[in-house]
Amino acid sequence: MPRQTMKRGRRPELMWGFALDDSIMEQIEQGVGPGFHIRNFPAGAYPAARELSQDEKPAAAWIPWSVWSSLAEHRRDEYRSQEDTQRILIQDGDEELQMDRVLSEGFLTVVRPPLTRPKVQDVMFRAREVKSLYSDIYRMTEEIMLERELLARKTDQLMFLNKLLTSATESLEAATILANAKSSLGLVLPVKMLHAAFWNSGADAADVEILLNGKMAPAVESAWVERIMGAAANMGAGSVNGFQVGYTDPARRPEYSLSPDEGRLVTMPLTAGHQTFGCLVLLCEPGYRLGKDQVETLRSAVNHVGLALRNAMTFKEVKLRADRDGLTRIYNRQSFDERLVYEIKRRARYRHDLSLLMVDLDHFKSVNDTYGHKAGDMVLRRVGEILTSVFRTTDLCARYGGEEFVVLLPHTSEEAAWKLAERVRTAIEGCSFHFDGKDFAITASIGVASVEGSSLTTDDDLVIKADKALYQAKNNGRNMVVVSGHDAATRNAVQ
Ligand code: GH3
Ligand code: MG
Ligand code: MG
Repeated sequence: MPRQTMKRGRRPELMWGFALDDSIMEQIEQGVGPGFHIRNFPAGAYPAARELSQDEKPAAAWIPWSVWSSLAEHRRDEYRSQEDTQRILIQDGDEELQMDRVLSEGFLTVVRPPLTRPKVQDVMFRAREVKSLYSDIYRMTEEIMLERELLARKTDQLMFLNKLLTSATESLEAATILANAKSSLGLVLPVKMLHAAFWNSGADAADVEILLNGKMAPAVESAWVERIMGAAANMGAGSVNGFQVGYTDPARRPEYSLSPDEGRLVTMPLTAGHQTFGCLVLLCEPGYRLGKDQVETLRSAVNHVGLALRNAMTFKEVKLRADRDGLTRIYNRQSFDERLVYEIKRRARYRHDLSLLMVDLDHFKSVNDTYGHKAGDMVLRRVGEILTSVFRTTDLCARYGGEEFVVLLPHTSEEAAWKLAERVRTAIEGCSFHFDGKDFAITASIGVASVEGSSLTTDDDLVIKADKALYQAKNNGRNMVVVSGHDAATRNAVQ
């Protein structure tokens, strides 16, 4: 309600009178001066509830005690509830009225005729004061309500951030963090998809890792990859070496078939310190607009998620370093040992085939002796690459030690393992090395051990068998594959 002031010279301000006689009317009119209009209701025709709710409320209502005391209680209640009209009691009878009675009847004050100008002026002054007090209280109440609403909204945001932060720190897996972030963000935004990209900032050319929300049709996926790579380039990934795509949810669901144009895209950078190491790409409902509040909430949400993702990245790097061999970057002996125990256990339950290759480079010492240790290192790295390229990601290639490598092949029969070993052997044999202007080649001997069907084995057993087969390959002239339990002559490649 706007604050009302006396509008002199404009429309006269309304006052009510309840069956006022002419002389009282005249006294009031003279007392208040121009700018007021008194609507005097005749006896028995006092304003009803309908009029009480009208827009223009009277500045004051002049009511003689004789009229007031003759009104029915429910009518008096109606007037009492009309808080923004100041009622002035005119004490017209002989009855002596106490002030507390006057106030308890809901009057502002009481005046006794004759209504002299100073009396009327004084009453009007008080009426105006109270009225402005009322409008101040009203305005303050409004402000308090608004403040309360803002606080409620802030509480919602804090609860959301708290949920997001808790779920983000629950995991050290980027995929889990992103899946949790998506469901938390869904509380404040109509998020349909959430993708992320990470890059190694600081390098000349970045390798970008993309984590798509889920598997989708190839055409949709390439549209997303293009958009995300574009966003990455804009956000400081700079020139890009290459990228790899992973999935937060490895499943392929209908909701992942939305292309980047089927909604509103929101791209937010992920930063740590002053470096941008990635970005989040959100697909929201089409036509959705972010309010100022939401942008701020989103920004702080993304900061939290960014920190959690950064931790996940660091954890992954550290884990990678602990799992891998420093020279070849393939798995190390410890990873192999752990995985072997796991695969043997799994096999005991599911009875799938399991094979192991043991690869040892032939006369490797002479490579070191002839071309130097650095040339030897180069060969070892190259062999690591060959192994990675020949085998599936579900297989495990590891450097067992020195110039010895192992490959663990779950779900692979002896026959298939032997063929794979042959492929590795010929790939190594066919590889030509150049070092310091000199060309050379190397060969490898491979021992294969398998466990198939219902037969049982232990981790030690499998390694010992592969090792023995390798020993046989060495004894029989090297550059060959020998399968454990078979005569070296019957299943080796080099005749
Ligand atoms: P064989 O055909 O019987 O396997 O002969 P070999 O020379 O390959 O076998 P041996 O075990 O005698 O020698 C292995 C060599 O591998 C000796 C060692 O210096 C070398 N070696 C082990 N680790 C590394 C490495 O990290 N870098 C380099 N450059 N050489 C290494
Ligand atoms: Mg060797
Ligand atoms: Mg050796």
